[in-house]
Amino acid sequence: MDDRLRLDQRPRFDEGPRLDAHLAVDERLCSKVACAREAVATVTFDYADQMAALGPLGPGSDPHAHDLCAQHAERLSVPAGWLVIRHEAMRS
Ligand SMILES: [Zn+2]
Repeated sequence: MDDRLRLDQRPRFDEGPRLDAHLAVDERLCSKVACAREAVATVTFDYADQMAALGPLGPGSDPHAHDLCAQHAERLSVPAGWLVIRHEAMRS
């Protein structure tokens, strides 16, 4: 019984989500409203430590992560008292 269940579930997992994930990577756009530029960076907000970490485009699975285009990544603003940590690769 258990083995049969597993066999039924595996093909579905392999076919569906992989296609979706691929599409999502190709079409990542800036998450700012009214901005349609291609996302080049991901900022992750850590509310507990009041930190924003800016780095290369992430996997997109983190609910606290937002994709940003180059311009918005450059102008990233955070609430007063927050710390912004920029990934080494983001410094020019
Ligand atoms: Zn933008």
